[in-house]
Amino acid sequence: MQDILYIVVPCYNEEEVLPETSRRLRDKLKGMMAAGTISERSRILFVNDGSKDKTWEIISSLHDSDPIFSGVDLSRNRGHQNALLAGLMTAKDRCDMVISMDADLQDDVEAVDRMVEEYYAGAEVVYGVRSSRKKDSFFKRFTAEGFYRVMSFLGAETVFNHADYRLLSKRALEGLSQFKEVNLFLRGIVPMIGYRTATVEYERGERFAGESKYPLKKMLAFAAEGITSLSTKPIRYITLLGAVVFFISILMLIYSVVRWATGETVLGWASLICSVWAIGGLILLSLGVIGEYVGKIYLETKGRPRFLIREVLDDGE
Ligand code: UDP
Ligand code: MG
Repeated sequence: MQDILYIVVPCYNEEEVLPETSRRLRDKLKGMMAAGTISERSRILFVNDGSKDKTWEIISSLHDSDPIFSGVDLSRNRGHQNALLAGLMTAKDRCDMVISMDADLQDDVEAVDRMVEEYYAGAEVVYGVRSSRKKDSFFKRFTAEGFYRVMSFLGAETVFNHADYRLLSKRALEGLSQFKEVNLFLRGIVPMIGYRTATVEYERGERFAGESKYPLKKMLAFAAEGITSLSTKPIRYITLLGAVVFFISILMLIYSVVRWATGETVLGWASLICSVWAIGGLILLSLGVIGEYVGKIYLETKGRPRFLIREVLDDGE
């Protein structure tokens, strides 16, 4: 008896890509079942993240046509990370391993075999890592790689050039389910689970239809979310900055006393106005960063549900 694999695919307004994606994924799974590497009870689980188009209708009819397709319908749009978590948690009790990937087939489906191989070799977490970003626009590549650098500088441990294409074993999923945070940044949480890990390289292609659901604004929000939910280093840097400014102010104090003693105190309007603005700006910036964390604490204490499920279509047990 081989292990059960679930492929979890979050979908938001993906009616244009679903027919092709479902066909490719089914062919992949059927092939692996025939080769005997995975159980016949393996499934492709589409999570509908409150789409406004026909995405859920397509998922339901896929499920009716072939039980290899399962579906989870969320109560409303909750964003990529929450949708993915909803899928992972639904799959957790039904499978031995789960692979998450995007609906747009940017993640190379052929890497699935190598991930499953690593799983059988004993890895609990297998990261899909992009071997190159040749196909990305210069802008996307520049911002995305900058993002990983800033993340690691600010103390958030992530896997370079790894997004949300990964395999998790049942044990890793059990681990993940114990992380209760509401501000969800999965690619930062998964490395915290630990256990044995492996990486598999793949070429990331272009989205073959539809448009990106991550415009620049969302990408920046996502980066800020990642940093502030994984690390408190920004607050520490503010403390450091405060100490440096305080040190400078002592020097300035000595300087002014000397100037006063030598009777040259009227000059210096420009430097005064400059430091007022500079210090004011620093204070506002620091308050903003601290406020960001206070806001996070506020949201975490509320402990609101991360997703609500309207319906599950799955005939696994
Ligand atoms: N997605 C989602 N909810 C959202 C936004 C996106 O479930 O609110 C899904 C989307 O359907 C896709 C994946 O997240 O499967 C990644 O989105 P996309 O491919 O648009 O991002 P990009 O590859 O451009 O970063
Ligand atoms: Mg994409």
